[in-house]
Amino acid sequence: MNEQELLAFDREHLWHPYTSMIDPLPVYAVDSAAGVRLKLKDGRELIDGMSSWWCAVHGYNHPVLNQAIQDQSRKMSHVMFGGITHAPAVELGKLLVDMTPEPLQKVFLADSGSIAVEVALKMAIQYWYSQGVSEKNKFLTVRSGYHGDTFHAMSVCDPVTGMHQIFNGILPIHHFADQPRSRFDGDWDPSDLDSMREQLQAHHEAIAGIIIEPILQGAGGMWAYHPEYLRGLRALADEFNVLLIFDEIATGFGRTGKLFAMEHADVVPDILCLGKAITGGYMTLAATMTTEKVALTISSNSPHVFMHGPTFMGNPLACAVAVASLKLLQESDWEANVRRINAHFQATLPTLSSLPQVVDIRIIGAVGIVEMKAPVDMGEAQKLFVEKGVWIRPFGKNVYLMPPFVISDQDLGVLTDAFVGVVRKL
Ligand code: PMP
Repeated sequence: MNEQELLAFDREHLWHPYTSMIDPLPVYAVDSAAGVRLKLKDGRELIDGMSSWWCAVHGYNHPVLNQAIQDQSRKMSHVMFGGITHAPAVELGKLLVDMTPEPLQKVFLADSGSIAVEVALKMAIQYWYSQGVSEKNKFLTVRSGYHGDTFHAMSVCDPVTGMHQIFNGILPIHHFADQPRSRFDGDWDPSDLDSMREQLQAHHEAIAGIIIEPILQGAGGMWAYHPEYLRGLRALADEFNVLLIFDEIATGFGRTGKLFAMEHADVVPDILCLGKAITGGYMTLAATMTTEKVALTISSNSPHVFMHGPTFMGNPLACAVAVASLKLLQESDWEANVRRINAHFQATLPTLSSLPQVVDIRIIGAVGIVEMKAPVDMGEAQKLFVEKGVWIRPFGKNVYLMPPFVISDQDLGVLTDAFVGVVRKL
């Protein structure tokens, strides 16, 4: 199939993320990818500024990850996880238990980020149900959050950007507190926690848990808030007897400069969701981790089991590549790479702050965000970026960069030059 035929079939038949079937934005056909470069079917090469949505931290076509997939595929690509276990799942579980804070000992392997969130919410409800408290089945979260596209995950996304009105009457109704406004790199204002406290005072008897993306809210607004907020949240969760759930699907595995964003605040949740970079962007896989207390409470009381078990749970191929990716991360100097990317962003992006179309610039770890006054024309911006040889996909008012950790200084220079040049024209 030549490029024109491929694009024509795609346009007619394939649904892309959040797109129209009548007037879809143009898509670019990628033939292959290696290192930090996406190679288009027309021969052009683009330096990747997105890590395929937070995932490809080691870059593409990595020999170690390729080898892990090949080796595992010769043994078995998949076996059911019901009644069966295997080394890739066990090794991955061990790595996750070792890498995360000590209280998180129990691992549920899920097949995507959204499912990891569904599992976390179910765990929280079952934790209370097991103790005879069936009325604790609502959740509390902050505005501008994002936790996935399945129904219950969507119900704890921001009510406006999460499009709650479309699914009105079907979506479970939860409680929303104001978004913390103290900046990650600014002063702490304790009144940030007032709204959370008010919600808990009013509704705690019906609340199973608080769910939040620690430190950096992703798709709901790309906003980085003060670590003190998480410390306050832990205290409030304990005071009002609700579980604390951290969604580190986007932030986990180094992106914010710590292995997990919660480390900025030194706070441990009762339930933790991981995904995205867990396989280095090779395959879909996620995990929901919890404490002995939550897991044993669920298991000690009727129905004595946790009620979830997807077909592809613990998929050996995905687990094998996740093991290889996490070991690669541990062996690499990812912290130095993230610091290097951060320093580069600090040296380049603030030059945009005087532009009238720019509202705010936020830099945390290997993430650089420029918030614009008005929503960006995604198709137009993308075209300009591609012309400059980079892959950057703005979302709403935010134009942002989150390149693979392995990007060279030279490629980083090309990426930020293109970024700065295009933002000036938007
Ligand atoms: N939680 C967060 C914080 C996310 O950023 C995402 C994905 N963008 C999800 C959950 C959902 O993950 P997935 O797309 O793998 O279902």
